Amino acid sequence: MTMNPLVQTLRDRARAFIDVRRDIHRHPELGFEEHRTAALVAQLLQDWGYAVERGVGGTGVVGRLVRGSGRRRLGLRADMDALPISEANGFAYASVHAGVMHACGHDGHTAMLLAAAQHLAQGGAFDGTLTLIFQPAEEGGGGALRMMEDGLFERHPCDAIFAMHNMPGLAQGRLALREGAAMASSDYATLTLTGVGGHGAMPHHAADPIVAAASIVMALQTVVSRNIDPMQMAVVTVGALHAGKANNVIAHSAELALSVRALDAGVRRQLEQRIRELVAAQAQSLGVRAQLDWRPGYAVLVNSPEETEFARQVALELVGPQRVTLQAPPLPGSEDFAFMLERVPGSYLLIGNGQGQEHGACMVHNPGYDFNDDNIAVGAAYWVLLAQRFLVAS
Ligand SMILES: [Zn+2]
Ligand SMILES: [Zn+2]
Repeated sequence: MTMNPLVQTLRDRARAFIDVRRDIHRHPELGFEEHRTAALVAQLLQDWGYAVERGVGGTGVVGRLVRGSGRRRLGLRADMDALPISEANGFAYASVHAGVMHACGHDGHTAMLLAAAQHLAQGGAFDGTLTLIFQPAEEGGGGALRMMEDGLFERHPCDAIFAMHNMPGLAQGRLALREGAAMASSDYATLTLTGVGGHGAMPHHAADPIVAAASIVMALQTVVSRNIDPMQMAVVTVGALHAGKANNVIAHSAELALSVRALDAGVRRQLEQRIRELVAAQAQSLGVRAQLDWRPGYAVLVNSPEETEFARQVALELVGPQRVTLQAPPLPGSEDFAFMLERVPGSYLLIGNGQGQEHGACMVHNPGYDFNDDNIAVGAAYWVLLAQRFLVAS
């Protein structure tokens, strides 16, 4: 099974975008600080004839290209932010900013979409409105939500949206899709237990928040094991527990940090409700006060059936059935493209970063990770074909 000739066309022009990718890799910027990256993206889009909007939701960039009289409107999204990680790679284009690194391949996602943008502007056979969304702060900052709050889809309405993320351990260029829930929600909570401090020898004059904390940590284990449907995915992790300083002093307070994940909106609500009930009842029974500060994070990412099927057909046409996973397993990580998919139907797919030592060994967020530049042509060709198949005169 041979690849679609579009891949070779993009490969012939990939050199310039490998250079762009490495330039961005060399100058990584954290979420909402992507000033240099955003300026580079905006300038290139403008040079190619896109109507460019800068500063959307902070440092986001939107490029729009209208062709023909078609009424269909497509959105393609890439993320631009780096991570607070010290790069361990020694190659020439390694990060020049100490403690900041493109360890999730967002440099590559940006370069793939730019390569597609150039091709579509200079020779793309499409009819309709193409909207390219370069978002800030995917890594925890919720840049997607910020762009939406800033009117992204009011000013740039889309009928469907798509995004792609690289995945180490999956064969280079392999495309993996999934209909339905594909990535988990991610919520955080801080629990503060306040008791009555006192002498370690006289517990009857105190209310010990450490005993309450220990009891609550154990009780929380029953939420997943006893309350949630065993066929559903759920995680409750107590990632930090701080209390006390001395052997002979009963602490005044204790603080616990929780991470809570689910693959279903109903399970997500059930987890929060059950955790709130357990904490309140446990604290009351042990005579301490509990304050639970719940911070909702990213939503469950749900790929819509029709758009996922469309994205599958494009993948099959581009790289053939041997290089496509039609229904991949879900991932326990989270992704703020979930917020865009709550507003607009679409699909989020994976592209293999490679197997073996060079690009498969390091998972994303590892200090030795690097995006696989061979994917720039495949990823860009995928976006070009998807745009050409979606944006047809209606
Ligand atoms: Zn990441
Ligand atoms: Zn990422």
